[in-house]
Amino acid sequence: MKRVYNFSAGPSMLPLEVLEKAQAELPSYNDSGMSVMELSHRSGLFTEIITEAEALLRELLNIPSHYKVLFIQGGASQQFAMVPLNLMKNGKADFVHTGSWSKKAMKEAEKYGKVNVIASSEDDNFTYIPNIDPTTLDPDADYVHITTNNTIEGTAFREIPDTGKVPLVADMSSNILSEEIDVSQFGIIYAGAQKNIGPAGLTVVIIREDLIGNAKDICPTMLDYKTHSESGSLYNTPPTFAIYMAKLVFEWVKELGGLKAMQERNEKKAAILYDYISQSDFYQSPVAEDSRSIMNIPFVIPNHDLDAKFIKEAQAEGLETLKGHRSVGGMRASIYNAMPVEGVEAFVAFMKKFEAENK
Ligand code: PMP
Repeated sequence: MKRVYNFSAGPSMLPLEVLEKAQAELPSYNDSGMSVMELSHRSGLFTEIITEAEALLRELLNIPSHYKVLFIQGGASQQFAMVPLNLMKNGKADFVHTGSWSKKAMKEAEKYGKVNVIASSEDDNFTYIPNIDPTTLDPDADYVHITTNNTIEGTAFREIPDTGKVPLVADMSSNILSEEIDVSQFGIIYAGAQKNIGPAGLTVVIIREDLIGNAKDICPTMLDYKTHSESGSLYNTPPTFAIYMAKLVFEWVKELGGLKAMQERNEKKAAILYDYISQSDFYQSPVAEDSRSIMNIPFVIPNHDLDAKFIKEAQAEGLETLKGHRSVGGMRASIYNAMPVEGVEAFVAFMKKFEAENK
C-alpha cells in the first residue's frame, strides 16, 4: 500500500492507525450490520459516539464545565458570521489582523457591526505577530478576535493576549490540539476539523455558556449557538461520519500522551525543519523568529525558478503538497499532529540533497 508524507495545509494527513481502525469498522460498526455513515444520528450507537467524542475533547483540552462543545458544519468560514451574529450586542468588535484568514473574518463581521483593527502586521506582509497595546482595547467591544495560527503566513501567537472582561474569540483552525492551552482564557474557540481533528465537514466550537443566547433577531436558526447548544449538536443531522473520525483522532491523541506529548512532538518536528533552514544559505524563512508557527512552515528559495523543480522532485520521493499558498508563493510544509517525526526527517534529507544539487 502506498502512503506518502502529505504536507498539505488541509485537508491534511490523518494518522494511519485511525484510518485503519475506521477501515476495519466500516462495513459493520460495533456489529450493527451498518457503517457509521448509515446509522441514524438519533440511534443509541451514534449517541455513544458523539458523547464519547465530546468527553475525549473535554479531557484533552481540560475544558471547564461552564463551556459547551458544539459539533457543527459550515467550516471556520461560517464562524466568521456566527460570531458577530451571536456576540455583537454593542455592535463593535476589536480584531488583530494577521493575514488572509483574519481579513476574511473581519470582512464578514463588518456586515453586522463595526470592526476595529487594534493591531496588524500588514506593514510587513504578515510575517510577524503584532504586539497588542492594551490601551487600544475598547472596553465596550463585544469581543476581541485573533487567529492563533496563521495557516498561510506561518505565524502563531506564542502568548495569548489578556483582554480582561471582553471575551477573546480565537480561530484555532490550524493549531487546535497541537499544544496545551488554557481554555478559560477564551470566550470562544472555533476550528474547522480538517487539520488536527479529522475530515472536512465538521467544525468544533468551544463556547463559554454566558455567550450563548444573545443572538441578533436576524440570526438564522442554524447560525444561533443556542440552537446547537440546546440540542446537543443534534438540532438537525450533524456530520456523523466526521464526528466518528474525530472521536478516533481524539483517542489517538490521548494514546500518544495527550496535548503535552503532542506539543513536545510538534516542537521537535518544527525545530528539525527550522534549524535546517536557519543554517542554510539556500533556503530562507520569511517569518520572524519569535512568531513562528510549529504547524505551517513557509520557506523560499531565492531563485524562484527552482520552486517547480523542488516540488516535482519532492513529490517523486513521496513528499507531497509542498507548494506555498498562491498569495505567498514559495513552499510551505504543514506538519500537523499526524505528521510523524520521520516525515520531517525525510523532508529535511530531501532538502539537503536538493540544495547540494542546485546551489
Ligand atoms: N481559518 C484558518 C486559520 C484556516 O486555516 C482556514 C482554512 N484553511 C479557515 C479559517 C477556513 O476554514 P474552512 O475552510 O473550514 O471554512
